[in-house]
Amino acid sequence: MKAVVLVPGTTDVQLQERPEPSIGAADDVKLQVLEVGICGTDREEAAGGRAAAPPGQRDLVMGHELLGRVVETGTAVRSVRAGDYALFTVRRGCGHCPNCAAHRSDMCTTGGYADRGIRLRDGYHTEFVVDSEAYLVRVPPGSASVGVLTEPMSVAEKAIDEAVGIQVGRLPDATDAASWLSGKNVLVAGLGPIGLLAAVALRLRGANVHGLDVVDPGSIRPRILERLGGTYVDGRQVDPRAVGEQFPQIGLIFEATGVAQLEFDLLSALGANGAYVLTGLAGGDRPTTVDGALLMRTLVLRNQVMVGSVNASQRHFALAVADLERAKGQWGDTLGALITHRLPYTAFADALSHHPPDEIKTVLEWSAL
Ligand SMILES: [Zn+2]
Ligand SMILES: [Zn+2]
Repeated sequence: MKAVVLVPGTTDVQLQERPEPSIGAADDVKLQVLEVGICGTDREEAAGGRAAAPPGQRDLVMGHELLGRVVETGTAVRSVRAGDYALFTVRRGCGHCPNCAAHRSDMCTTGGYADRGIRLRDGYHTEFVVDSEAYLVRVPPGSASVGVLTEPMSVAEKAIDEAVGIQVGRLPDATDAASWLSGKNVLVAGLGPIGLLAAVALRLRGANVHGLDVVDPGSIRPRILERLGGTYVDGRQVDPRAVGEQFPQIGLIFEATGVAQLEFDLLSALGANGAYVLTGLAGGDRPTTVDGALLMRTLVLRNQVMVGSVNASQRHFALAVADLERAKGQWGDTLGALITHRLPYTAFADALSHHPPDEIKTVLEWSAL
């Protein structure tokens, strides 16, 4: 079978012939790969950045944002049948720390975990994949057209879940996680796939979503945000430090820009007792000026929390699947518009090296849905 293979640390990405995997254990599930999404991590890998081949291997099969169809199951598998849409999660535990032992490798403390398609374990840019039912997530057929967004959605779900969990644990007026966001002013910074998917989850929980980006108000990202009932804040017109004056009492900031200066500047928009959750990976190529004393003083005097969030647990994948389905009911095909580019897998080199200006999510097709 074909696979898109990278020599980690280089820009050598090729289509290679690999042996097709087969069911080896009673709890194994074999998926035919249908679609695999491409994100900044893949492009970083293909540019020679962060990636690692499996032990003893020179190269790595890329891809971590999967949608597949079950073709075969081991004898002990009960949750899916051949023909079901499904995907596998990304991270595999280190085998040593208590969080990994509790099936929460997203909170691994040793750093010895593997991420399929990123480090130490082959990924999903190929024709067939096999893994354990323990890492399987079923996708209802009605959501198959946006099922490939489940992995990025799970990242947004975890970040929101973390922030809300912290708030509910410490604020006397936050009685339960389910209702805490209802009616709250929240700010989503960066309307890429993660930011827009966060806006979906936040709108489903009744938040007033203000989405900040630096694109034309008539372009696709603001238009999708507005279809979800959010309001667009044009970062070219509004000083990020003044966003808090425009929208008072912002209870939550969801950051998905990866621009360190903006990340710091936005803190002044956060209301008293607010939570700030960061998901963007800030690059080191832009100098940052921070009034450190002011920053620390603000955090203390306003009871604010900042939390970083990466990856997701099985529960967040389940939340992602549920929310993608709810979103379909609420906004029809609006979410489908997030997938701006669908390309055949043979176009991998172009998809991994080019970021079209009107792109939200590019997906490589391995087989018809
Ligand atoms: Zn990704
Ligand atoms: Zn661990």
